[in-house]
Amino acid sequence: MTGTSTIAVHADRDVHPSRAVARPIYQTATFGAEDGEQFAQVAVERRGHDFYTRYGNPNHAQVAAVVAELENAEAAMVTASGMAALTTAVLALVSAGDHVIGQKSTYGGTASVLMNLLPRLGVETTLVDQTDLEAFEKALTPRTRLILVESPSNPLLQITDLRAVADLARAHDVLTLADNTFASPVNQQPIAFGIDLVWHSATKYLNGHTDVSAGVLAGSAEHLDRIWDVGVLTGAVLGPIDAWLLLRGLRTLPLRMERHNANGLALAGVLNDHSAITHAHYPGLATHPQRGLAGSQMSGFGGVLALELAGGFEAADAFLGRLRYSRRSASLGGVESLAVHPASMWRGMLSDEQIAASGVPLGLVRLAAGTEDTADLVADVLNALEVVR
Ligand SMILES: *Cc1c(COP(=O)(O)O)cnc(C)c1O
Repeated sequence: MTGTSTIAVHADRDVHPSRAVARPIYQTATFGAEDGEQFAQVAVERRGHDFYTRYGNPNHAQVAAVVAELENAEAAMVTASGMAALTTAVLALVSAGDHVIGQKSTYGGTASVLMNLLPRLGVETTLVDQTDLEAFEKALTPRTRLILVESPSNPLLQITDLRAVADLARAHDVLTLADNTFASPVNQQPIAFGIDLVWHSATKYLNGHTDVSAGVLAGSAEHLDRIWDVGVLTGAVLGPIDAWLLLRGLRTLPLRMERHNANGLALAGVLNDHSAITHAHYPGLATHPQRGLAGSQMSGFGGVLALELAGGFEAADAFLGRLRYSRRSASLGGVESLAVHPASMWRGMLSDEQIAASGVPLGLVRLAAGTEDTADLVADVLNALEVVR
């Protein structure tokens, strides 16, 4: 089997080949055809790359070739953001009167699609505890069409049993769509466990340099054709330059993930034993309640960890203020370390009651370790914790 670093560098070799070693940027909104026959052919080609850029562009197709092979999928497609990938897929796969199951612990945008957007379109949804397999089974109805999973989940790093949920769904003729953003295809390939479709915020690890918003979907050609049909209508098209930047980021994904994994594990280990921390959530820690399951479906655990500070809201805020390398910023997966304190981020958006109902403790901090040297990141968090002792 070809290794992931080789795939990341070479999987797009036959897609729109040219003699240029680095891929050219096809900064064009449309393409000319040789003759009427060719024009008629490219106009109906699904996931093509040289008809009209909203329908596809060589820079999209090259990214898709790399992502498909990294995810062990037949095909992939590119969208303008992670949320565009999710909403396009959901609009393609469900209709009014259908039922969708999602997780209680999930990315905020996904939660809002499940709680607001889908119900408004006449799609019923049920949110379940992802750690409870029976909850998925109990939530199934004869009208269930789709199960959305996310593992590890944001922000508490809870794990979903991908194989078990895929088996359950398949037995009931229900599709599964997994958010693989936190793991990346280097650490986890949901399709290998029977999941039908995978999506990513490519804004995070896949691009890895905090300079592009993008999304991807991977799965069977048949499913992706259905989604692509809706994608050309929603028009959430990634610009060619951003697709080119995403491809350049993907080239080093496996290399970067090695460091993200090492930094995440080192920080989680040091912080788990620290007196100012009551709880460190990281799937690679022996103390994580689902460590066994995580190890059975992941080959590394990523750079994201969540910490509960003993001193609550004030301690979390002070800790962030003292970090030198981790900037206070709402993202993850880039070369730079970033940190967020959800309770202070939500202060302007939610009431105290809503924050309490979210299940996210007031003293919780999410750290996203970048690719800096491990020793520097460890020294930085230990130094910052001195203020909250
Ligand atoms: C950021 C993120 C998203 C949303 O992706 P965008 O690229 O911001 O649209 C979805 N899921 C997870 C887990 C994320 O971290």
